[in-house]
Amino acid sequence: MPKVPVEVKELAAVFRVGNFNEVVTGYSQEEALSEASRCIQCKNPTCISGCPVNINIKKFIYQITQQDYAGAYFTIRATNNFPSICGRVCPAEYQCRKVCVLNKNKAGNVSSEAINIHFLERFIGDYGMQHNLTVSQKNNLSKNKIAVIGTGPAGLCCAGELARNGVKVIVFEALHSCGGVLRYGIPNFRLPREILDAEINYLIKLGVEFKTNLLVGKSITLDELFRQGFSKIFLGLGAGVPSFLGITGENLCNIYSANEFLTRVNLMSAYKFPQYHTPVNIGKHVLVVGGGNTALDAARCALRLQKIQGIKPSVKIIYRRTEMQMPARQLEIQHAKEEGVEFKFLVQPKEFIANDRGFVGELTCLNCQLGDQDVSGRKRSEVIAGSDFNLPCDLAIIAIGLKANQVLSSVTLGLKTDKYKDIIVSPKNMETSIKNVFAGGDIVGGEGTVIEAMGMAKKAAVGMLQNS
Ligand SMILES: Cc1cc2nc3c(=O)[nH]c(=O)nc-3n(C[C@H](O)[C@H](O)[C@H](O)COP(=O)(O)OP(=O)(O)OC[C@H]3O[C@@H](n4cnc5c(N)ncnc54)[C@H](O)[C@@H]3O)c2cc1C
Ligand code: SF4
Repeated sequence: MPKVPVEVKELAAVFRVGNFNEVVTGYSQEEALSEASRCIQCKNPTCISGCPVNINIKKFIYQITQQDYAGAYFTIRATNNFPSICGRVCPAEYQCRKVCVLNKNKAGNVSSEAINIHFLERFIGDYGMQHNLTVSQKNNLSKNKIAVIGTGPAGLCCAGELARNGVKVIVFEALHSCGGVLRYGIPNFRLPREILDAEINYLIKLGVEFKTNLLVGKSITLDELFRQGFSKIFLGLGAGVPSFLGITGENLCNIYSANEFLTRVNLMSAYKFPQYHTPVNIGKHVLVVGGGNTALDAARCALRLQKIQGIKPSVKIIYRRTEMQMPARQLEIQHAKEEGVEFKFLVQPKEFIANDRGFVGELTCLNCQLGDQDVSGRKRSEVIAGSDFNLPCDLAIIAIGLKANQVLSSVTLGLKTDKYKDIIVSPKNMETSIKNVFAGGDIVGGEGTVIEAMGMAKKAAVGMLQNS
């Protein structure tokens, strides 16, 4: 008889919508022990192959059952630099948990629920942080210094790997604060800033230097960095350029890209206005277009802003397929529903209509139906002609995808990119078409996940350490 999965504690929706406090509060020691005891310690632990950085999941769960929490921490840290971050944001249901043996019985049917690997990882990551556990660092073996561009998960992970191996690393970041999407995209209620700050402080303790407000490609070129004595360079530039719908009225006032909206809220603390100086005039009817994590984060931030500004919450997500096809994490969809975000499925925007002040006032939409599969393997969304209807809208957020920023690649001769303008690398070691320049994360694979970005960065660090 399989044991019952241990549910993780969360703040009730009614208490969380008026603030940006963390929603999931995590496992206690007793809960972690109980959940770990469900793992059957498979001979062939399929969970490991589901993890992009191949954490020895079976081993760290066993160590939890033995209450060897420090051991579990070092097992995870052997392959994952940021367990407290990944334990919070990894889409485990599509990765390690998807292939956990407990998902299936011999007939391939669901027999029990996969182990909550991500919540156990988070528990151990937080334990390590609370107990100041640190991984060992090699003495400074290398005379060379390496430049890392970008401080998202790829840049931070690469810097950590290199610094642990005794390399002097200087990290350059365009924004005034470090963390990439972890700072300006993912809200505090999913990833508290103390966790991110602690990881960055740990890198500083390892000797990593951060230089912010420096846009590489504009303020300094790669050639200049080489001339300054850097022997190798890692590009972790992310995918920061938003896509738009291209429909009439999209340039009206109060229509934001999700990136701008989330940056105003998360990086510039719009929800603390007037204490901070970048407000968002949130309005009564917010529409968010898209179905990924970005759309969900934007919708949940908008709902909180309305609450904080004393407006009756009204936030709708418009998605042209059905819930089944939504790329967002299931947990985030569930949280958004609990908080009062409405979902309009099989609906596509047609045209934004201005109010008498020139701001957005309405969105004309069309109903859709599902057709055949498209290249992504999802069913195509087909518009139903003549199904137009209008929704009130005084703030719209477009969250339909992100593309590569070409600031650096457009001025760097010889840096090869593909048709999406993503940087092309050697799959062997992540080296680009320019010798000694490596790359990883979303700038290589397009929009991906935190752990995938870290996986690429680790591979690049290994490549860079050879002959350094
Ligand atoms: C809103 C949102 C929510 C998400 N939620 C999740 C989630 O729950 N789970 C998950 O796994 N993934 C999630 N993702 C995806 C994930 O965050 C990304 O895959 C990941 O951050 C990519 O990491 P990166 O280091 O490649 O790039 P980024 O995190 O984008 O970081 C790139 C950094 O490089 C800097 N930079 C760019 N160009 C230059 C330059 N020329 N000079 C100096 N600095 C530069 C940028 O300012 C930025 O700080 C989410 C993404 C978004 C947008
Ligand atoms: S596949 Fe599931 S049950 Fe088996 S070792 Fe991994 S986590 Fe434990």
